[in-house]
Amino acid sequence: MPLSQLSTFQNEGAVSEVIVLDTIADAQAFSKANSAPYFVLGKGSNTVINPDSPIQTYVQISPDLLPLSHSGTILTASAGTRVNQLTKYCVQHGLAGFEFAAGVPASLGGMVTMNFGCWGRELCDFLISIQVVDHAGDVHTIPLADLEMTYRSSRVMRERWIVLSATVQLSASTPADVHAKTDDAIQTRLAKQPLRGRTFGSTFKNPPNEFAARLIESAGLKGFEKNGVQISDKHANFLINTGGATFQALQDMLALIEETVAKQHGVRLEREVRLVQ
Ligand SMILES: Cc1cc2nc3c(=O)[nH]c(=O)nc-3n(C[C@H](O)[C@H](O)[C@H](O)COP(=O)(O)OP(=O)(O)OC[C@H]3O[C@@H](n4cnc5c(N)ncnc54)[C@H](O)[C@@H]3O)c2cc1C
Repeated sequence: MPLSQLSTFQNEGAVSEVIVLDTIADAQAFSKANSAPYFVLGKGSNTVINPDSPIQTYVQISPDLLPLSHSGTILTASAGTRVNQLTKYCVQHGLAGFEFAAGVPASLGGMVTMNFGCWGRELCDFLISIQVVDHAGDVHTIPLADLEMTYRSSRVMRERWIVLSATVQLSASTPADVHAKTDDAIQTRLAKQPLRGRTFGSTFKNPPNEFAARLIESAGLKGFEKNGVQISDKHANFLINTGGATFQALQDMLALIEETVAKQHGVRLEREVRLVQ
């Protein structure tokens, strides 16, 4: 499958195998049977894949693994549910909480794994629990307290579980109010981020009391482009594939930013983007 369908950066190349797990039983069977290396992918909105990686099997959870449902203000959804499905459902049912993610091309499973956050709010602020399948094919419910969620990180990354679903605590509102806040969030993002570009969101984590974008911009790199990879002129912590970008071109750009920022500001930037090498 071409990477243009697996990662929002849409770099050149393809991988051999993509397996979509439609049911919990499928996920259990896959985990038990599979000994070859694989990578669990959400919507690829923070992941860039090297087409020459020895990992050639990619696994995704179907949004239909379980129906999107709520009881009162508690919502449960498949890990494969996309943000736009979540926000649409929340508008329909007057449930507030997911507006901050509106417009982002992510899945719920990726949001849990990365502890998605912006504007002072993170997924761990309203996550209740997740359901996962482990390497033995056993299904577990893991409560938030056991997920070790920190800035853009969680225990899911270290355990390499497959997240099947997540349950979150939302709050009661009205469809009109949730709709307005969802629209506002999209407009704010459109103004500040290259939301419609071939990008993977934040490239680097913000260092303590600092912004990665400010460091990159003040190093004079905003707008710089090489081999189809551009440092966005809207937001310097976003990289854009302007056409034909390769995995190598991305790696070269990451190294250039890291070296320049270290030299000029004495700060080592930590990558937020997940690379499948
Ligand atoms: C325009 C744009 C704006 C963005 N804005 C933000 C923002 O405001 N805040 C923010 O935090 N991020 C932002 N991002 C980055 C990205 O959307 C988030 O990191 C998101 O959480 C990734 O979700 P995903 O489904 O695309 O995950 P992927 O990129 O597919 O995967 C990310 C990680 O999660 C793991 N993973 C995914 N699904 C599962 C699963 N079911 N089980 C186990 N592991 C899994 C992968 O293995 C990988 O390690 C933005 C991205 C874009 C393109």
